[in-house]
Amino acid sequence: MTVILAPRGKSRYDTGHPWVYKSDIAKMPEQAGLEDVQDVRGQHLGWAAVNPKSEITVRFINKGSARPNILQRLERAIAFRKFLHVNGDSFRVVHSDADGLPGLTIDKYADYLVVQQNCAALEPFLQDMLRVLKREYKLKGILGRFDSKIRTLEGLEAKVEVLFGDVPEWITCHEAEIAYRVDPWKGQKTGGFLDQRDNRIALAEVGFGRALDIFSYHASFGLHLAKVCDSVECIDSSAAALERAEDNARLNGLNNMIFTEANAFDWLHQTDTSERYHTISLDPPALAKARRDLDGAYRAYKELNLRALKLLEPGGFLGTTSCSFHVSEADFYVMLEDAAADAGRMVRILERRSQAACHPEVLNFPESRYLKFALLQVM
Ligand code: SAH
Repeated sequence: MTVILAPRGKSRYDTGHPWVYKSDIAKMPEQAGLEDVQDVRGQHLGWAAVNPKSEITVRFINKGSARPNILQRLERAIAFRKFLHVNGDSFRVVHSDADGLPGLTIDKYADYLVVQQNCAALEPFLQDMLRVLKREYKLKGILGRFDSKIRTLEGLEAKVEVLFGDVPEWITCHEAEIAYRVDPWKGQKTGGFLDQRDNRIALAEVGFGRALDIFSYHASFGLHLAKVCDSVECIDSSAAALERAEDNARLNGLNNMIFTEANAFDWLHQTDTSERYHTISLDPPALAKARRDLDGAYRAYKELNLRALKLLEPGGFLGTTSCSFHVSEADFYVMLEDAAADAGRMVRILERRSQAACHPEVLNFPESRYLKFALLQVM
């Protein structure tokens, strides 16, 4: 059934953005599906994944006249990753709307895929997509992490299930010189944070001395740092993540790492600034989940960065991240400027980085640009 955008929806369409909200739609179908979309004058606008149950009701897949070929979209996403030079065996294969496949995330961890499918209109294509994936990659297993809340909101069943082969409790992945285990079944998101891959490698290129990995998860930054630093202390509030971090240290034969289960805010607050370090990674979870959280998030990011900068010796490096989409790149650097001033440190920016290219950033879709990573040096 044809979907009709209200004039405000059409204006949004004209900006090039793929999403139209429920309040900006004049006529919508009762069921979710892949539908053609028109404006109120009957002009054809394109094809979209449509779900009347979702606030983001229309997610454009193409703006042409032909019904989109979902399998071809997937093949294009796969072809794009083949062209990237990923330093390791693990990367994102599909990044949702940024690959023209709304709500679909597929991460590759060594010989396994972990799929999150949060779009009702794409659900009927799942089996065919699995066939394409098995043809393109030599796989031992595929796991469906269909357990996100969004699936329930989309009207889809929530479950975690093996979609192909066998999926073990741990998958061993490789990233530059490091091996690490992810937990595809219960780990955060699909098990790991592949968007930080190149930033981890970049920080290890300059890292030295006494290092800290704050918000370490399973020590993704820490493992790289332990190869080049004298010692690394990993701090995280999740005991399960730290248990895996210890395992990962053993897997790499690294015995210069220690693991501290703590609230990172408290830990930083309590640590005496005469305790000095040479390399710090600071990678908090998204502190601004919504626009209304921005003020509080700004203060929290500033507090973390200020304290981290105070702990660094002159010449020391800070790799600092914000993964909150709502914190703009401009705000992130203003916050860092503020933190440096309050810490009483002169700080040099070595690199302004973003997410790994397998998480593509699309100009028409600002939500696809979310990760800010600054490589800083205290002067
Ligand atoms: N640096 C990691 C990803 C970190 S994700 C990587 O590159 O893979 C954010 C981590 O912060 C999670 O492991 C979560 O357990 C932890 N976390 C969340 N709130 C925390 C807090 N208040 N104190 C310490 N750790 C926290």
